[in-house]
Amino acid sequence: MPPKKPPKKKSKSYTCPICDDQIDDSTQQSIWCDGECNTWLHRGCAGLSKAAHSKLNGTDIPFYCPHCRLMRQDREIESLKASLSDLSKRFDDLTSKSPGVSTPPDATSVPSQPTRVVKNHSKPNSMENRKFNLVLSGIPEAPSSQSRSVRAHAMFEKVSEVFSEVLGDTNGPLPHIRDCRRLGKFQSPSDGFRPRSILVTLDSVLTVDRILSKVSSASHGAVKIRRDLPFEDRLAHSVLMKERWSMIQAGTDRSVIKLRKRSLLVDGQVHGSVINGSFVLAAQNSSPDLTSPAQTPSTTPVSAVDLQLPTNDTTNSSHPPVSTAS
Ligand SMILES: [Zn+2]
Ligand SMILES: [Zn+2]
Repeated sequence: MPPKKPPKKKSKSYTCPICDDQIDDSTQQSIWCDGECNTWLHRGCAGLSKAAHSKLNGTDIPFYCPHCRLMRQDREIESLKASLSDLSKRFDDLTSKSPGVSTPPDATSVPSQPTRVVKNHSKPNSMENRKFNLVLSGIPEAPSSQSRSVRAHAMFEKVSEVFSEVLGDTNGPLPHIRDCRRLGKFQSPSDGFRPRSILVTLDSVLTVDRILSKVSSASHGAVKIRRDLPFEDRLAHSVLMKERWSMIQAGTDRSVIKLRKRSLLVDGQVHGSVINGSFVLAAQNSSPDLTSPAQTPSTTPVSAVDLQLPTNDTTNSSHPPVSTAS
């Protein structure tokens, strides 16, 4: 604490700390700085006008020179910074102990959220993950008046029911459903309302294959089960189904028309294929007895996977798979 009363300067000569010169009391006015200086300063060096100096002179009002005022402000700022940092630390401690306080974690996790979203969305797109998926269509949606969890539970139950129906009671363990969700946006029920497909994730590729192998031979009502195919394959499939239907309308026996990946086979011959999303007839000049790869846009051999593409017509799917060798 600076002394309340400046020492009598008459007995001593002082050096002004601002200009480092002697203070000549006979010609110069001076003022005592109660700050760091703790000594006499020239009035001018203390930044005082004559009027201000005469008002202060002889009073007990503490005076701080500009330098000391800045020093005091710096110390105040430092002290406030320290308090703020202490408060922040205590706040962090509190929020880490109670996860219910949501504002700071949300604020800090905002930059990481887009990454998380991208990660979640990229997962089901990869073929590696599609292997575990099946898409079920034709399962009615629960009314939207029911709660989300009730609807989710009903959907899960229905999917389990369909699988056990498809596999039969004595055909090994029931498949373990890891996840199931409706695909696409919810539409409010109307005249043209169709239930959204359900994407089901199973525990193993084996289970997926087990179910698909039963789909072609078992009747499972209005529910259709297919692989979780990439968009291009689904598009090709719907184009082929349309073409198949128009051929049946035109009089072709439905039993001779088969789907093979992105091609339509008639009597084992490639009739046409889906190229860039539209149906293209196969070359007409090739002999029907030949099945050379040249006339086949897709040279991929028929595999079990290709033959498991479901059709909209169950009578057709009950026929044995067609062979390219015939
Ligand atoms: Zn001075
Ligand atoms: Zn000072």
